[in-house]
Amino acid sequence: MVKPKTEEEIALMRENAILVSKTLAEVGKAVAPGVTTLELNRVAETFIRDHGAIPSFLGYEGFPAALCISVNDVVVHGFPSDYVLKEGDIVSVDCGTLYKGYNGDSAYTFPVGEVDEQTRKLLDVTKESLYKGIEKAVDGNRTGDIGHAVQSYAESFGFSVVRELEGHGIGRHMHENPGVPNYGRPGKGNKLVDGMTICIEPMINAGARNVYLSKNGWAVHTADHKKSAHFELTVVVRKGAPEILSTFDFIEKSDVKF
Ligand code: MG
Ligand code: MG
Repeated sequence: MVKPKTEEEIALMRENAILVSKTLAEVGKAVAPGVTTLELNRVAETFIRDHGAIPSFLGYEGFPAALCISVNDVVVHGFPSDYVLKEGDIVSVDCGTLYKGYNGDSAYTFPVGEVDEQTRKLLDVTKESLYKGIEKAVDGNRTGDIGHAVQSYAESFGFSVVRELEGHGIGRHMHENPGVPNYGRPGKGNKLVDGMTICIEPMINAGARNVYLSKNGWAVHTADHKKSAHFELTVVVRKGAPEILSTFDFIEKSDVKF
């Protein structure tokens, strides 16, 4: 049985989720053709530390950087590198922070310059599938309700859902129970209870769902090398409607104050 968070804990996680959201927006401002993914990592690490938090991915099970940066056919867990972003790429940026003892975790996939129409569709559908899943994060539902909502939406556009990786509970630990798959059947899976904090993070492929692990033991690639997108938000399960802790508003709305 997963213990729901207290309102005091959720208040700390809310602060942290905003910091992660702002960090992703800072990184987004730096995304452009000609920029290396290591430079994006530097932007994030500086911003996180300047705000009194710790980049929680750095050193996590040996992960070498503050961000997971996954370009094009890399689904998740890519290492920042000297790869130079080019027009038409997509770059998934996954960010985790530790702040006042609690974890934040969110991800956004940015287009680099202009992307082709099918790629734009992949980004839009993946993000919308996340919101479809979030709608189901209410007390009394089950994780299968979330997964089914994500899957049925993404697949209705001919895209496919990566099954080897999933969302998760979050709190003092970055990965807590329950697992939150991006596929499933309504009414199945773990029960969702008011006050549970979870990360929902669809990983959606333009082509087939099959993936493989690269030789470095981290980066997950699509088997057909078609593009993959990834969006993640942290939410609180509530009665009636979920509460979304992190936000893409800092990225997408120019009038939001930092
Ligand atoms: Mg993440
Ligand atoms: Mg996560």
